[in-house]
Amino acid sequence: MKRLAFDLEEKEWMDWLLQRGEKPFRSKQIREWLFQKDENDPLLFTNLHLPLREALKADFDFDLPVVDARLESKDGSEKFLLLSKDNQLFEMVIMPSDHRITLCVSSQVGCRMGCTFCQTGKLGFKRNLTRGEILSQIILANRRLKEKGLERKVTNVVFMGMGEPLDNYEEVVAACKTLIAKDAFHLSKSKVTISTSGLVPEIERLGKDLPVRLAISLHQTNDEKRSEIMPINRRYPLPVLKEALLNYPAPDRLGITFEYVMIKGVNDSLLDAKRLVHFLHGIKAKVNLIPMNRFPGSSMTTAEEEAVEQFQRYLSERSIPAPVRYSRAQDVSGACGQLAAKKQNELDMDPRVLAKERRIEDKFAKTTFGQKKSLE
Ligand code: SAH
Ligand code: SF4
Repeated sequence: MKRLAFDLEEKEWMDWLLQRGEKPFRSKQIREWLFQKDENDPLLFTNLHLPLREALKADFDFDLPVVDARLESKDGSEKFLLLSKDNQLFEMVIMPSDHRITLCVSSQVGCRMGCTFCQTGKLGFKRNLTRGEILSQIILANRRLKEKGLERKVTNVVFMGMGEPLDNYEEVVAACKTLIAKDAFHLSKSKVTISTSGLVPEIERLGKDLPVRLAISLHQTNDEKRSEIMPINRRYPLPVLKEALLNYPAPDRLGITFEYVMIKGVNDSLLDAKRLVHFLHGIKAKVNLIPMNRFPGSSMTTAEEEAVEQFQRYLSERSIPAPVRYSRAQDVSGACGQLAAKKQNELDMDPRVLAKERRIEDKFAKTTFGQKKSLE
């Protein structure tokens, strides 16, 4: 199989060019075509001579993942289900707002961390995405923005789609390097956020290699209880995690963001809020309170509105910014990983069972949206 062109580093392009007796500076030109000019047909790289263009086409694969489904949400975001060459499904979400366009990318197909409240975790682990597959998501998003007639490109990238980015360290860091490279996407380090469930050695490594912004999926500040919902906590318990966070060189002194999914009766009490404030002591922190997205088959459910408000008030009164963030694109797919899981289920299903399920779903949709009054 040919290598994916988006997977090559600048140095690798240079080696390939040198082997062919070409000038190494052409690597910059190739990267500009791929990452800035949105051209993935090498025959159209017009500042290269024709034999070189033909050699590129012969030696590398320039295909982007296929968009298997695209769902538009009422809140303006769009969720995409992407299909790789080897038929793996992963998701990305474009989230526009007034001043920025944030793209939420996946780093793996599935995830091996097994958090009990997460649909991606329930999918299990299929494989890591390559750096090129991660970067393809930004290319596809920019292409979509152009198709919609917008002059804007993706300004911020968050690794909050499927997968645990620090469990795919090499590929994720290589992709981040291309995100900030001048001859590629040229984003600032403070516009790239890696969200992690808390892989301590990799957090320390990242601080040395490429300190982008960090978001920690915390969700619980009692060690025993955190281990119940996030098995990774058994390996890296809270005091060890806190030590790593105190030492993390966040860009522009922006501090660290904490994600706190609010689950009814699990982590939403006043006592939980008090423990959280204690845990955050000494860290420049912002907390995103995310009412849990329910998904089929999960016994856990969203915290009550009053509980979320009480929790938020407690943090705000102690000068910890704690906005309540409803997950974007909720109406089109609910929790992260849900779209991929649904499609995966369908792929695994007997076609006759699938057809029946779809008929039931269709009737359900028609009745819930009031287009038809009764089930025929
Ligand atoms: N694996 C990384 C990044 C992907 S998950 C991590 O865990 O940080 C992105 C975010 O979605 C995380 O904060 C995760 O805790 C959150 N999440 C997972 N399941 C959710 C659910 N059912 N409802 C709301 N947020 C959820
Ligand atoms: Fe993996 Fe993050 Fe989901 Fe946990 S919350 S299972 S780390 S994707």
